[in-house]
Amino acid sequence: MIDKRKFYINGKWVSPANKNDFSVINPSDEKGYAVISLGSKKDVDDAVKVAKNAFLSWSQVDKKTRIQYLEKLLNIYLSKWDDITKAMSEEMGAPLDWSSSAQTSSGADHIKDFIKRLKEFKFEKRFDENSNNYIVFEPIGVCGLITPWNWPINQITLKVIPAIAAGCTMILKPSEIAPISGMLFAEIIHEAGIPPGVFNLINGDGQGVGSDLSSHPEIDMISFTGSTRAGRLISKNAADTIKRVCLELGGKGGNIIFDDSHPNAVREGVRNIMSNSGQSCDAPTRMLVEKTIYKRAIEEAADEANKIKVDIALKKGDHIGPVVSQNQYNKIIDLINSGIKDGATLLAGGPEKPNGLDKGFFIKPTIFTNVTNEMRIAKEEIFGPVLSIIPFDNEDEAVSIVNDTSYGLGNYVQTQDKEKAKRVARKFRSGGVYINGNSAEPGTPFGGYRQSGNGREGGDWGLEEYLEIKTICGWE
Ligand code: NAD
Repeated sequence: MIDKRKFYINGKWVSPANKNDFSVINPSDEKGYAVISLGSKKDVDDAVKVAKNAFLSWSQVDKKTRIQYLEKLLNIYLSKWDDITKAMSEEMGAPLDWSSSAQTSSGADHIKDFIKRLKEFKFEKRFDENSNNYIVFEPIGVCGLITPWNWPINQITLKVIPAIAAGCTMILKPSEIAPISGMLFAEIIHEAGIPPGVFNLINGDGQGVGSDLSSHPEIDMISFTGSTRAGRLISKNAADTIKRVCLELGGKGGNIIFDDSHPNAVREGVRNIMSNSGQSCDAPTRMLVEKTIYKRAIEEAADEANKIKVDIALKKGDHIGPVVSQNQYNKIIDLINSGIKDGATLLAGGPEKPNGLDKGFFIKPTIFTNVTNEMRIAKEEIFGPVLSIIPFDNEDEAVSIVNDTSYGLGNYVQTQDKEKAKRVARKFRSGGVYINGNSAEPGTPFGGYRQSGNGREGGDWGLEEYLEIKTICGWE
């Protein structure tokens, strides 16, 4: 058992104020492999005090120096690639090769992109030609950063790097379920020589440290990624102090496959949802298939799902891993059973464990057909390797089914008719649209409409979330 019962406060690893041990479980074997501490209000108060103090000097550090710190941090991150990759495999079950090529690489991409944006970002702009009014961007202050377990380093770099770049100070609370990669990241910050108090890390759960951060009067902003449920609680908790709250929440993506789509569209759609064992907020969990190709599509989908291997995360290969925890496992199996009970047809997978994997939170890649939009499996975010296939007659019907959800994060469309693709992309009510397998480049804004959140992370938009805007009249 690795002992990680320490918090990073004011540039040092310190013991928590109270003893409150929490076991980090490896989802591939259900065994505890590390122990952390869950923090208390006293730990949060201590960290906020030093972050507030550090803000006085860090907010005044010039842009060139901030860039130098981030460049050093990037080099250290790259040198620790394998450690970060392994930590995520152990803590949340990302298969080793994929943990490296998708999870660890996403962190590197974000650090590189924010350095580029910071170099170009103008913190002072003349309002208009000949105007003596200036618009000045200033760091917002002390930030509370709360991250989930499903893309741990991706989410941490999307928050910590722009906060540092903006001149803010911060307290990070990684998910208690997958905190080890976050602690490794704190070591990287330390090695990069970021001044004490700028970055602080406290482990904890949502009810404890999460709520203490959201309601804290000396915290100026909360950036949260996680469930819509927790996003609501955080907003309520933050309301009394009128702090800025940026929310990146759940999703229930739709993927419209027209009969003129690329021949691999169905197979790619299946692979896409099963990746990360279905635990991605923008996963295309509902596949809408034009009725004229429905029969062929379900044959291909079943064949593809049955080809996907499931195995332990620390093995090399192109398999998918377990889901993160017993709770998630129970929730997903309950939803699979609800699909069967509600009358959907099980095309592949099902609630039983995959062969030979009795220990670990493993779930078979599962596909339902004959799904209607009233069923729970079509409405709720399952967050597991479960796809619903829904037939449609025409474009308007397909778009209206996709938009018939309280979420609005990422939607997908497959057609070789470029005009149709553009038309559908405009009609989707979501922060992201992916046409014919194209993916988002680092630096593009990521976020949701409706109950998928209110923030945008990445690039200039991600940087601006950590900035206040001041108008100075009579600057010249
Ligand atoms: P979660 O909401 O249970 O937990 C996320 C984080 O919030 C954790 O650190 C947790 O300790 C903390 N938390 C929980 N309750 C809290 C509360 N009341 N106050 C303050 N903090 C609280 O989510 P999860 O299970 O870790 O992650 C999965 C969810 O995250 C999914 O819904 C997924 O769609 C979403 N997600 C969204 C994005 C995005 O960018 N939109 C990206 C990744 C994940």
